[in-house]
This record gives sequence, C-alpha cells and structure tokens, in this order.
Amino acid sequence: MHEVYIAESILETAIWKCRDSGFGQIKNIKVKIGKASVVSTEALIFVFDALKIGSIASEASLIVEEIPTTGCCKTCNGEFSVDRDFIFQCPCCGSDSVIIKSGNGVELAELEVES
Ligand SMILES: [Zn+2]
Repeated sequence: MHEVYIAESILETAIWKCRDSGFGQIKNIKVKIGKASVVSTEALIFVFDALKIGSIASEASLIVEEIPTTGCCKTCNGEFSVDRDFIFQCPCCGSDSVIIKSGNGVELAELEVES
C-alpha cells in the first residue's frame, strides 16, 4: 500500500529532524500532500497512528493539508489539474505525453517539537 510507504517516510523524516535539533518529543507534524499522491488521507493518518507507537512521535498528530496537483501536456502545452484517479492523459488533446508540474509528493511543512 502506497500510504504505508508515505507514512513511514514522514515519520522517519520527522524523527530525524527532531533528534537533529536536540528535541526529544514530537507534538505535531504538518505535511502538504499533492492531491494525486495519496489514495486516501484517512488511510495515511490511520497508518501513521499505528506506526508512531513506541517512537518519540507517539503523542504526535499528523495534520495533512492537501495541495492541488497540476500537470502539463507536452503536446499541446495545456495545463490541467490532476485528480486521484488521474490516468496520465491530457484532458485537452488526449496525448499521454504529460508531466506533473506541482503537488507531486509529500512535503514536511511544519514540525512542532518539545524537549
Ligand atoms: Zn494536450
């Protein structure tokens, strides 16, 4: 499942950053996720809540902000927004030569920590 991998990398990054700054406890983790990157935000939070147990993020909440994912067509130069069930095809001309411009993936936006 895609969400497991994403939740793991969020948790690992947050723990690493927290320790690196000399703090011992993570309170909140805020992430920005491109709409097309996850199948379900609920599933992501569910997986995160399971993974955090026993770690320094055990008390942390995962706050997810969805940001729009946009794509661009290399054939007609059209720009369009990308949804979860996007099938890598330009909605304007039908070309499959498209690239994701923004909102692709997960970005750690804010980390609230405590010593
Ligand atoms: Zn096109």
